[in-house]
Amino acid sequence: TLISTNTPTAELQALDAAHHMHPFTTGADLARKGARVITRAEGCWLTDSEGERILDGMAGLWCVNVGYGRKELAAAAARQMEELPYYNTFFQTTHVPAIQLSARLAELAPGDLNNVFYASSGSEANDTNIRLVRTYWEEKGQPERKVIISRWNAYHGSSVGSGSLGGMKGMHAQGGMPIPDIHHIDQPNWWAEGGDMTPEEFGLERARQLEQAIEEIGPEKVAAFIAEPVQGAGGVIIPPETYWPEIQRIVDKYGIILIADEVICGFGRTGNWFGSETMGIKPHIMTIAKGLSSGYQPIGGSIVNDEIAGVIGKTEFNHGYTYSGHPVAAAVALENLRILDEEGVVTRVREETGPYLKQKFEALADHPLVGEAKISGFMGSLALTPDKASRAPFAADAGTVGYICRERCFANNLVMRHVGDRMIISPPLVLSKDEIDTLIDRATRSLDECH
Ligand code: PLP
Repeated sequence: TLISTNTPTAELQALDAAHHMHPFTTGADLARKGARVITRAEGCWLTDSEGERILDGMAGLWCVNVGYGRKELAAAAARQMEELPYYNTFFQTTHVPAIQLSARLAELAPGDLNNVFYASSGSEANDTNIRLVRTYWEEKGQPERKVIISRWNAYHGSSVGSGSLGGMKGMHAQGGMPIPDIHHIDQPNWWAEGGDMTPEEFGLERARQLEQAIEEIGPEKVAAFIAEPVQGAGGVIIPPETYWPEIQRIVDKYGIILIADEVICGFGRTGNWFGSETMGIKPHIMTIAKGLSSGYQPIGGSIVNDEIAGVIGKTEFNHGYTYSGHPVAAAVALENLRILDEEGVVTRVREETGPYLKQKFEALADHPLVGEAKISGFMGSLALTPDKASRAPFAADAGTVGYICRERCFANNLVMRHVGDRMIISPPLVLSKDEIDTLIDRATRSLDECH
């Protein structure tokens, strides 16, 4: 059979359910209900196989920062494919797109983060980081420094290494994670876990768990701390203002490596080029992916500071991927960075559309179902609750409120995601004020419908 976008939706869905195993999905649900088939996209709008237009409040998976349908990116890919579709960067060869992109990233990244090790995804980049920091300490003559501290409910990817770094208990329960020498501390989620503390007290308490963990493990055994400047997949948890300064103090005091996982926060999402700038932290390594190419090509990497790169450079780092620095992906990423910069996309999020979205989004806290509404740049979340005063969660057996709300949004042609009872947005950074109004109208209608 010839399968195309003209094939009837039900047929596409049946074939999809029969042969395609989807990530983070219960396959049996698809057999019953069928996935929505997305056929085209332009700007911030998706089109499905029934011709419905859907506002993408999630930028795909937090990645289509410049929006869909950018012909310059397609042209950059086509040009590079014709000139040099592939060559590797192993064994002392290189190519111009990798050189150009590395130099540009060194310019954009703060401080002495001047060195890029490429991967094709955030997961791979975080796997690189595990080996990078342990190798660094081995080369420094401190091989016992192996432990990497992370946080419960963090998301750092889905490979065995990066999934172990992550703190998703449901993932750890399947298939042999976590690997040894990864330690988790609690997340700075004041809404769910802050109890009677003020957000400021709670932020300090959660940051000091890092110090306690280091002392318990033994400072001479700790290699690094990894965290997302703002937790994304865990529910867009914007930490209290006291949190990051205290983390920075502790990291500095013990001389451990700080890895900022910028896979979501990077490339304008929080209104600066990197979430580390928004949160005022100075990482030694940043993980990047997603917005690096606006999702047009799979590319990620680790941006490493001069000290660590210098030490690693003295030996052969026995690590790398066939597609590390892939020329087509690198060319597309470079063009994407040009668009973000020259069209003032990041600046607009910081100064114009971000503040406008913030005002509208935070007003959703007046809705009877919404407890907390918080947003940083273009990533925000609503905590749904039956009782705002006590910040109570919905009872476990009614814990599908977030799911129902997400389904209502989808029926109203708005993509919002839910994590438990938190509703999330992370729209393309080119969302206009009119589109922000549409997003808020549709979100409000959907909340009304599940109230
Ligand atoms: N790190 C963070 C913070 C992420 O949000 C993600 C993906 O959502 C990853 C890493 C993993 O990236 P990928 O899915 O490209 O492997």
